[in-house]
Amino acid sequence: MTQTIEESMNHLEHLKIKYTDCLKHPLNLNIKRGIPSKEQLQLSEPMLNVLSSPTDFLSQGTIDIRNYGELTGISEAKELFSELLETERDEILIGGNSSLNLMYLVITSNLFAKIKNQTNKKRVKFLCPSPGYDRHFAMTEKLGIEMIPIGLNNDGPDMDEVKKLVANDPTIKGIWCVPTYSNPTGVTYSDEVVDQLASMETKADDFMILWDNAYLVHHLTNEKKAVKNILTACKAAGNPERSWMFCSTSKVTFPGAGVAALGASKKNIDFIAKELSYQTIGFDKINQMRHVKFLKDKNHISQHMDKHAAILKPKFDLINQKLMHYFTGKDCVEWTEPKGGYFVHLTTQPSCATEIVGALAKIGVAVTDAGATYPYGKNPSDNSIRLAPTPVSLEDLDAAMDAICLCIEYITLKKQQS
Ligand code: PLP
Repeated sequence: MTQTIEESMNHLEHLKIKYTDCLKHPLNLNIKRGIPSKEQLQLSEPMLNVLSSPTDFLSQGTIDIRNYGELTGISEAKELFSELLETERDEILIGGNSSLNLMYLVITSNLFAKIKNQTNKKRVKFLCPSPGYDRHFAMTEKLGIEMIPIGLNNDGPDMDEVKKLVANDPTIKGIWCVPTYSNPTGVTYSDEVVDQLASMETKADDFMILWDNAYLVHHLTNEKKAVKNILTACKAAGNPERSWMFCSTSKVTFPGAGVAALGASKKNIDFIAKELSYQTIGFDKINQMRHVKFLKDKNHISQHMDKHAAILKPKFDLINQKLMHYFTGKDCVEWTEPKGGYFVHLTTQPSCATEIVGALAKIGVAVTDAGATYPYGKNPSDNSIRLAPTPVSLEDLDAAMDAICLCIEYITLKKQQS
């Protein structure tokens, strides 16, 4: 039913009164970053006690994991992560606690090798499907790499755009990909997209696919769809050195105290291991062993992740219910209903997102900065907001969502009527 002008002005006045009231009684809620809740962290507490007998400190029954050595990781951890990333055992390198750290290592190692080999230091560019992960973009910017935003569809990056650009520009050296339950829109790449990325013609012969599979086991439903293996696809297409796969247990066990892994061709792993040997004698093998004993194998990880999902799913359901309650039949906002990962993405009306986020901040609800999920923090449409509901209780999320829905409607109508 369409409203008359008078009705919608009355409604705007009503929203203004509600918002002014919120200004007088601000909340104190933060749903800015995708971090696990306390209940999720408790799921992995038993891991801290899995190493109890002297034999637990031996890898393959002989190597003392308390001592130096095993630069690329203990064999047991390689077995676990090669099952997870679907690689051969010599196509895995186990890192420290952070996959971002490994991404930085891979990019800088490759750039250094190339700069050394080039008489002319050329400009380097990366394709950045957007909205995407803000820390990828921050890292790229810090390294002086020019970022080219690329559209992100429901099945992955806009491949027509990608193929056209990489076929013609030799300075485009890479693309960022979060192929499963992408941060922040929750999309999982289709097989066709994976095959096209693996086989497309690139003007740069050293083109890199940075395949950040951070959410590969983070399902919220029983669908548990796995993205097609990019390394296998690259090998089949005759480009075995093109892909670099990353994952970590940051949101499986403990962020900051998990284990990260890199999957790539043997040649690439050997190259990175050499680079790494100048930085460390080896990562924390005791933590690697703890993870192996606690997580066991892919099947057991899946059961462990079901416990995470049982905590998380009600939060995602609550967001969906709230948005449906407030916005069914209205055109203020569209939202995602992800089947996994850590985020819900809101698409607002153009030019509204920054103002909505600002209005929320004034009433004590912190959400990710509106432009943060775009290269250089700039979204030309200013229509994207990321919600990260995992750290807060259902009760707090309920209050935050009422505030979010109020601000979306208030700011959108205010702009429409101004
Ligand atoms: N990659 C993505 C897509 C993420 O969303 C996050 C954390 O939010 C990370 C990587 C961080 O990974 P790590 O803790 O292994 O460095």
